[in-house]
Amino acid sequence: MDFALNEEQRMFQKMFRDFVTNEIAPLAEEIDQEEKLPRELLPKAAMQGFLGALLPEEFEGVALDAISYCLLLEELARACASTAMTISVHNGLVSKTILDNGTDEQKSKYLEPMAFGEKIGSFALTEPAAGSDVTALETRASQDGGEDYVLNGCKTWASNGQIADIFLVFAVTDPEAGAKGISAFIVEKDTPGFKVGYREPTLGLRGLTCNTLYLDDCRVPVENLLGQEGEGLKIALKALDFSRLSLSAICLGGAQAALEAGVQFAVEREQFGGPIALKQAIQNFIADTAAEIEALRYLVYHTAWLSDTGEPYTRDASIAKLIGSEVAMRAANKMLQVHGGFGYMKEYAIERMYRDFRALRIVEGTSEIQRFVIARDILKEKGLAIKP
Ligand SMILES: Cc1cc2nc3c(=O)[nH]c(=O)nc-3n(C[C@H](O)[C@H](O)[C@H](O)COP(=O)(O)OP(=O)(O)OC[C@H]3O[C@@H](n4cnc5c(N)ncnc54)[C@H](O)[C@@H]3O)c2cc1C
Repeated sequence: MDFALNEEQRMFQKMFRDFVTNEIAPLAEEIDQEEKLPRELLPKAAMQGFLGALLPEEFEGVALDAISYCLLLEELARACASTAMTISVHNGLVSKTILDNGTDEQKSKYLEPMAFGEKIGSFALTEPAAGSDVTALETRASQDGGEDYVLNGCKTWASNGQIADIFLVFAVTDPEAGAKGISAFIVEKDTPGFKVGYREPTLGLRGLTCNTLYLDDCRVPVENLLGQEGEGLKIALKALDFSRLSLSAICLGGAQAALEAGVQFAVEREQFGGPIALKQAIQNFIADTAAEIEALRYLVYHTAWLSDTGEPYTRDASIAKLIGSEVAMRAANKMLQVHGGFGYMKEYAIERMYRDFRALRIVEGTSEIQRFVIARDILKEKGLAIKP
C-alpha cells in the first residue's frame, strides 16, 4: 500500500496551488458579489490546461489521472467553490462524457474547443418534475424523417447554463421502455428551438450560473445522439459516479479553506486578555475539523485511485460525496462559530463558504440518494434489490 503522491502528482499540486493562490483566490469575493466569473478567468484556466484536464493530448488536453484531477479541484475549491464547480461540470460531466461515449466525429468536433475553453459545457438532466427520480423525465425526443431528433421539454438547474455552448441534454426517446427509454444528446447553444432561460438566484455558489433551459421543437441532427438510443441513463449515471468523486474533492478543498480561515482568526482575535485559540473550546472546533478533513482526504484519494485502476467505485464515490459534503458543511459551521459575530459578516470569507457548502449536500444527488446508492450496493450482496 502506497499512500504517497508520486513526483508528477506533487508537481501538479504545486502548480495548481500557485496558480489558484495568485489568480483565483483574490477574485473569490468579487465572484460571489458579481454572481459571475470574471471574463478573463476561464481563458486563463484553459491556458493552464484546467479545461482539458481529463482529455488526452490528441484533443489538446493534459490527461490528468483521477488523483491529480482531484488535487486540481481541491485547490480550486480552497480558493473559490463556484470556480471549482464551473470547471468540474465542464470537465467531469460534459467533456469526459463525450470522450467516453462519443463517436470519432463528435470527439473531433467538440473536445478540442472545450480543452481550449472556446466552448464550455453544461449538463442538463434535472427537470421540474424529475429531480432525484431521473426516470421521471418529461422531455421528449422523437425522430423526424431519419435526419433530426425533435426535442420538446424543459430542464432546470443546468449549471454553467449562462456561459455554456454545448449542452448534454437527456430526453425520453421511448416512453414505454422506462429507464431504458432515455437518450443523451449534444445540443449546441444556437440550435433553433433551444433557449437558455431563467437564471436561478441562489443562496451560495453564486458564481456558478444555473439556468432553466427550454426545448421547443428543437431539431438536433441524428449525429448528435451520444451513445446509442436508450443508453442515456447509463451514460448519465456513469458521469455522475465520476462527478461525485470530483465533488468530494471540492468538499475537501472547501473544508480545508474553512479550517484555515478559522485557525487564522482564532490566532488573531483576542478576548479575555489573549488569543481565543488558547481556549479549549476553540481548540476542539479546530481539532475535530482537522480530524474529519484528514479522514476525508484518504477517502477522496482512495476513490480516485479506484477510478484510476479501473475498479468499480460507484459505492465509494457515493460514500466520498456523502461524507465530504457533510464534512465541508460542518467545517464551515464550526469555523463560523470560531469567528463569532464576525463570521456572520459578508466581509469574512467564512460567510460565503457557509452559503456555498450548503449546496454540496444537494447537488449531483442529495445525501439521501447517496445513502440509497450505498445501501443498495450492500443489500444487493444479500440478494435484496431495494428501490429508492
Ligand atoms: C447548485 C446546484 C447545481 C445543480 N446543477 C445541476 C446540473 O448541472 N445539472 C442537473 O441536471 N441538475 C443540477 N442540479 C439539480 C440537482 O441535481 C437536484 O437538485 C437534486 O438531484 C435533487 O433534486 P430536487 O431538487 O428535485 O429534489 P427532490 O428530488 O424533489 O428531493 C426533495 C427531498 O426529498 C428527498 N428525497 C427524494 N427522493 C427520495 C428517496 N427516494 N428517499 C429519500 N429521500 C428522498 C431528497 O433527498 C430531498 O431531501 C443542481 C442543483 C443545485 C442546488
